[in-house]
Amino acid sequence: GYRKGGYHAVRPGDQFAAGRYVAQRKLGWGNFSTVWLAFDVQSQKYVALKIQKSAPEFAQAALHEIEFLSEITKRDPSNCKCIIQLIDHFKHTGPNGQHICLIFEFLGDSLLKLVQYNRYKGIGFDRVKRICKSILVGLDYLHSELGIIHSDLKLENVLLVSTIDPSKDPIRSGLKPNLERPEGNPNNGEVGLNPIEKKLKMRARRVLAKLAEKRKSVAESSRSERTLDGIDLTCKIVDFGNACWADKQFTDFIQTRQYRAPEIILGAGYSFSVDMWSFACIAFELATGEMLFTPKEGHGYSEDEDHLALMMELLGKMPKKIATMGTRSKEYFDRHGDLKRIRRLKMSSIERILVDKYKTSESDAREFAKFLCPLLDFAPEKRPTAAECLKHPWLQYNEDKNFGSVNNNDAKNIDLAQSTGTSRNCTNIDA
Ligand code: ADP
Ligand code: MG
Repeated sequence: GYRKGGYHAVRPGDQFAAGRYVAQRKLGWGNFSTVWLAFDVQSQKYVALKIQKSAPEFAQAALHEIEFLSEITKRDPSNCKCIIQLIDHFKHTGPNGQHICLIFEFLGDSLLKLVQYNRYKGIGFDRVKRICKSILVGLDYLHSELGIIHSDLKLENVLLVSTIDPSKDPIRSGLKPNLERPEGNPNNGEVGLNPIEKKLKMRARRVLAKLAEKRKSVAESSRSERTLDGIDLTCKIVDFGNACWADKQFTDFIQTRQYRAPEIILGAGYSFSVDMWSFACIAFELATGEMLFTPKEGHGYSEDEDHLALMMELLGKMPKKIATMGTRSKEYFDRHGDLKRIRRLKMSSIERILVDKYKTSESDAREFAKFLCPLLDFAPEKRPTAAECLKHPWLQYNEDKNFGSVNNNDAKNIDLAQSTGTSRNCTNIDA
């Protein structure tokens, strides 16, 4: 939190880089940073200001991100490659230490928010296709022109390009840039709460949480239209804190759990195709509102083993050669290439799940599955590249045509037995 080595507390009106950037309001945060809307006095434009936590490991990660972003920005002067552009970077000293700050072009909401605003129902195939195209343009640029693997693609790390001028968005605060310095000590702990709210928060956290939950669904449905207004559905890939060069990798263990490729779990080495696996997970999640894989630890098996089992239930058995190839293969597979502790798999397919669980029409399900399945090949080298994907018939669509959308009206009545998420019978052969 907001302590030595941690986040830098900011208040609207705070100045950065000798007064060039003036903080407006908080846009978001991650494990490493807080991100603020700021006004650039020099260019008279709104920008995003990412303020990294100050401890050395976070500073190191920020320098790492700057290395990648500088290259990305330098080689894309026309800013059309669907990757976030870095505008500036500098150091800012505050009570919690020295923070590396990055200035980005201002973007809109993340794909996660888009899915949340649609109440986890999926956003319709026409929108999915548009977003997929943008992500693929970005990935093709990263992979084939720069040799960079993103390594952490997920909904939070893809932001919509907002055509809304932040100063003109009536729902957002600050119609004019706020260039006033705040009164008193600008760095007095938690931001965004007045003393009464703080007391309330302490006393009635649970009550508030319940209330918030109730209001959320109402608010989300009314906000969904707003989020989609003023957005042309292009988007940009952000967060290069975990990126690596294909020929200079830093760690064996990458990606966020649900988007992780099988070769990472198995410790079998990786390349650009790990991003293609995550991309397929994103496409599925946009279409259905639910993650493709949500592995859980169970009695007698680990989260990793469940993850491998879920993959095989959906995509077929992993070829023995691939299953036994990694440095960690022996932890999960026997010498026949069967999972050691999860013996009975409930086989299904993406197409079946789309039809049965998400009520997608047969033809839409077939077409979408044809696009997704090659990306989810257990053999990494067989997965299509981003450039090949861009040529796929599923993405060649007529803008005027009305595409079928995933119908989730029956979401509550889903027979969970048909999904892959039910508890499994497991045999611990060691027992
Ligand atoms: P971290 O490395 O800490 O995860 P990110 O770069 O992912 O930081 O940014 C955290 C969040 O801040 C994002 O998920 C998003 O909500 C918001 N954000 C980041 N960059 C921008 C931007 N350029 N424009 C608008 N919001 C942004
Ligand atoms: Mg992030």
